[in-house]
Amino acid sequence: MSNATELIHSIPVDPFTGSISVPIYQTSTFVQEAPGVNKGYDYARTGNPTRNVLEQLIATLEKGTTGIAFGSGLAAIDAVIKLLESGDEILAVDDIYGGAFRLFTKVYQKFGITVNYVDTTNLSNIVDAITPKTKLIWLETPTNPTLKISDIEAIGKIAKANNALLCVDNTFASPALQLPIPLGADIVVHSATKYLGGHSDLIAGLVVTKTIELGEKIKFIQNASGAILSPFDSWLVIRGIETLHLRVKQHCVNALVIAEYLEQHPDVEKVFYPGLKTHVNHDIAKKQSTGFGGIVSFTLKNDTIEAATSFVTSTKYFKLAESLGCIKSLLCHPATMTHKSIPEVTRKSAGVADSLIRLSVGLEESDDLVKDLGQAFERVQRLKSNKEFKCIN
Ligand SMILES: *Cc1c(COP(=O)(O)O)cnc(C)c1O
Repeated sequence: MSNATELIHSIPVDPFTGSISVPIYQTSTFVQEAPGVNKGYDYARTGNPTRNVLEQLIATLEKGTTGIAFGSGLAAIDAVIKLLESGDEILAVDDIYGGAFRLFTKVYQKFGITVNYVDTTNLSNIVDAITPKTKLIWLETPTNPTLKISDIEAIGKIAKANNALLCVDNTFASPALQLPIPLGADIVVHSATKYLGGHSDLIAGLVVTKTIELGEKIKFIQNASGAILSPFDSWLVIRGIETLHLRVKQHCVNALVIAEYLEQHPDVEKVFYPGLKTHVNHDIAKKQSTGFGGIVSFTLKNDTIEAATSFVTSTKYFKLAESLGCIKSLLCHPATMTHKSIPEVTRKSAGVADSLIRLSVGLEESDDLVKDLGQAFERVQRLKSNKEFKCIN
């Protein structure tokens, strides 16, 4: 892992002015001395010095060669898929981010790219599903919202043996906890909207490649398709990354407190957190990451949409919102929010029960967060008994 000192000092001081903060080069073009004679930049879609600092920073952090910044996490994913050709197959983790699922099936299938979804926590599923046409294996680990963990190193070996690329969406772990490239991935993608930005104030995406050659291909796509990140948003992501390690460390501490609290709560059916010994993939999570992240999911004993809805509207500090990874605690109800468009049977077989609630544990005092959840459990009980009381009358 990059340590904090290395990270902080890898952000350059401006060579022209000594500005300690990276300047925001809000420009569309760069004046040339003669055609093709310039200071390394010609047009700001192709390259911008502020974006360039971010791109180098994320490449360093992920231990890759090339970083490429996009206007959203989905634009970053889109650029990776554009490496493929008609007739190619993708082998993807089954509980993939909904936006990636939509992009693969609703946009790319019509261009002849097919996707096979398998439970990638079981390696034999990958070996069985891979074909000579499989050009890309797509992992998210941990997954959303049940936090399944796939073995990056082992899957990297399978990919290599089959001449397929391995891409890992590292949004949930962040490079503060997990480095897919040294483990064997060829490409890492991020929704920098989440932990890297960290403050719920932007939408951004990043790609990092292991090799310069792959980096050049993605850079070509970035310039050709044009879904670049703006100079100001690049600056915001740089600023977020400056405190990434510190924030993620505290997210992990708080999340473990919450997971342990939930695990002993009488109204909770099941807790999903890779840091708990009871989590099915705890050992592999421990092997490939230095911490277990800030996301905790759980189901209620009263497994109804109604109970979950009452819960998510009863918290004070946990704000009801989609997204994750920011300083403020958030919660969401996947069955009626992020996973609403997925058929009920498919959703349930992926482990997303009616009452499943996903917490993005923020940086408040953990005692306050525990109290907030406690009063929400009490309120749900009260609402339930009031209703039963009304029914009797
Ligand atoms: C949010 C998210 C994305 C999409 O990123 P945007 O910045 O919203 O486009 C992709 N993958 C994962 C795991 C995410 O959580």
